[in-house]
Amino acid sequence: MTGVFSLDENIMKAADLLKRSTFTTAYTGAGISVESGIPPFRGEGGLWTKYDPTMLDIDHFLGNPVKGWEIIKEIFYDFFGKAKPNKAHLVLAEMEKQGLVGRIITQNIDNLHQEAGSIHVYEFHGNSKKLVCLECRMHYKASEISLDHLPPTCRQCGGLLKPDFVFFGETIPEGPLLAAYESASISDVFIIIGTTGEVVPANQIPFLAKSNGAKIIEINPAESNYTGQITDIFLKGKAGEVMEKLSKVLFTPAL
Ligand code: NAD
Repeated sequence: MTGVFSLDENIMKAADLLKRSTFTTAYTGAGISVESGIPPFRGEGGLWTKYDPTMLDIDHFLGNPVKGWEIIKEIFYDFFGKAKPNKAHLVLAEMEKQGLVGRIITQNIDNLHQEAGSIHVYEFHGNSKKLVCLECRMHYKASEISLDHLPPTCRQCGGLLKPDFVFFGETIPEGPLLAAYESASISDVFIIIGTTGEVVPANQIPFLAKSNGAKIIEINPAESNYTGQITDIFLKGKAGEVMEKLSKVLFTPAL
């Protein structure tokens, strides 16, 4: 259905689906934040071309908290910390305000959907802007904790602090997991933005939505695991650029 139409024609079709939808879920991955300056994990310029992914394995971190924190600080706090929402985050927030998106299920940990103004955001992999004590489970804003001396420790009990995002080998938080499964059963449109669909179990959610009858719109400059299998309308391009075009059709006046 998607290949023979131009991007503009597919945008019109996507806008029509979105306007007719009774409940739309946006499902986002690292690609939506690339235009904010945050590289994805995989592919060209991806973080795994520079860093070793075992740094984010929970057992590795627990065995080497200083080394682990040195890399985590460099990637997620010195660098990610300064990113601002881009057009794609802003358009999604406006879509929610106008009743065109019911919720966002994100694999991202960068907090940019909330900073753009989105309210119903479910973070499948947690959030880097919070730290959690592994002993007493006390939570802190990352901005309140100095990373001058690593590893950071809990002010209350002295336990090791860890970023409150999901490391490899950890389980998905229950709230976002349940919200994602619920979305897959109640949505008649899923809009997938900027994900390879390679991270288990998050990658299963769009497949589940499709099997429950949802139409799938996908935005990505490259094909993903979803494109040839479940995507109904493929909007090939960068998230910010495509969402800006979509917003011109969806909103009057344009955002
Ligand atoms: P990924 O790194 O596996 O894939 C990124 C995807 O984004 C690719 O399909 C790529 O083609 C696409 N992409 C690249 N530039 C884009 C653009 N401008 N617009 C739209 N799409 C673009 O990312 P993933 O599938 O989300 O899974 C990796 C894991 O990475 C997630 O669990 C997430 O927690 C973590 N992660 C998050 C961030 C973040 O919070 N911003 C950054 C890196 C990794």
